[in-house]
Amino acid sequence: MKRHRVVALPRGHYNWWTMRSLSPRPRRRVTFYTAGCRLNQAETAILIDRFCAKGYEPVPFGAPTDILVINSCAVTEQAEADCRRVVRQTLRHSPQAFVAVIGCYAQTGVHALQNLPGIDLIVGHQYKLQLPEHLDALAAIEKQSTPSVVHTRRIEHQEFVVDGTGAYSTTRANVKIQDGCQFMCAFCLIPFARGRERSRALDDIIREATALAERGHRELVLTGVNIGQYCTGQADLLSVIRRLETIPGIERIRISSIEPTTIPDGLFEHMASSSKVCRHLHVPLQSGDDRILKAMNRRYTVRDYQREIERAVSLIPDLCVGTDILVGFPGEGEQEFKNSVAAAHDLPFAYVHVFPYSKRPGTAAARLSETVSSSVIKHRSRELNHLSRQKRQAFYRRCLGQRVSVLFETQQTTGLWVGFTDHYVRVGVVSSANLANTIHEVIVTGIMEEMVLGELVATGHPQEAAHRASIERVVSAI
Ligand code: SF4
Repeated sequence: MKRHRVVALPRGHYNWWTMRSLSPRPRRRVTFYTAGCRLNQAETAILIDRFCAKGYEPVPFGAPTDILVINSCAVTEQAEADCRRVVRQTLRHSPQAFVAVIGCYAQTGVHALQNLPGIDLIVGHQYKLQLPEHLDALAAIEKQSTPSVVHTRRIEHQEFVVDGTGAYSTTRANVKIQDGCQFMCAFCLIPFARGRERSRALDDIIREATALAERGHRELVLTGVNIGQYCTGQADLLSVIRRLETIPGIERIRISSIEPTTIPDGLFEHMASSSKVCRHLHVPLQSGDDRILKAMNRRYTVRDYQREIERAVSLIPDLCVGTDILVGFPGEGEQEFKNSVAAAHDLPFAYVHVFPYSKRPGTAAARLSETVSSSVIKHRSRELNHLSRQKRQAFYRRCLGQRVSVLFETQQTTGLWVGFTDHYVRVGVVSSANLANTIHEVIVTGIMEEMVLGELVATGHPQEAAHRASIERVVSAI
């Protein structure tokens, strides 16, 4: 067996690029666990691509592996607990697996992670996408008595580029266009975890998007922490969208989530007229009570929010509007919660994502005293989730009898092919054909709890076979 020279990595922070690769290594299996948001998913996809390029063999999470990469989240206590669980779970079936924790928890919870048995490397946000190079710098990828740490408190905030192209086994591909946030909402750890806002160079976004289109992806989801703040030179979010629309093969561009105060001028008008921009807006409301919004350090009132959404709905036919509401923020009494329920009820939401408040040390809200008990938070979350289901069903009912365009993704075990409309309605149809990654017209004939049912009214796109072959090649390479 080939032996490697061992370089002892100092405990504590170090500069990874002073290390160098000392010898070639055998092909190693690597598995990924991604917690949290779509931005983390986009970053994991980039890492999969970069590990593949270096000859590593990606294996599904849960399979025996040589390396586990946890792209962690710190948004709730639960997310941190999940990270610890995943380490234990993987070491049970792969006791020699080298465990690297990267991402938000690695950035904010480095000391807690250092004391967690089984972790070998902790990489904060500044250097996480260079993880393969950190591993190159090690003399041997093997269990460490104490974890090495690659971490800086300060995260650069210049315009950035991303090496590589996200590797996705899914039909939709995320594209990271922005990172960081400095809005300092009182409940949110993200400004501490990901640093100040910064945008990705427009040409680099176009480069990755073009490569994704060549791999067969037809839909791109623009992701970031606060993408409405996108700004490079003269380019804003709308400029990014206009450039993406010119890429051959890209048929849908979806905006993941956008803060209500950051929507660029002209976005709604463009969404209304474009054949490629999905009629889907996810705009976090967080609370339907002005006093709580102020305490959260949000930058709008309920009325401001309502005006913006009403303008969008009036301009964009069949628009799907979704939102986030945080339940149990300190000081949220019965009346404040009722105001949130009323806002969720009255605003034209197709769905509401409900987030139970979780105290995050270091945030402004963590210092507030009027806390809400966990049983009340649970009860309120249930009520809002129930309302969200009703809103979704009402949105689905509006589709009955309509002709919709569906990008199909997967076939369920039931044989039903499932995909999404551009306005984010999940649609299932029965078909013996392979519909994966093809767009078809469908008449909606019925609704179920989590999707609508329909019948195909048209056959595939002329480029269908080529697209399918191309995405199959990518999927088999992952
Ligand atoms: S806008 Fe507020 S909630 Fe969103 S990431 Fe920034 S600080 Fe967090």
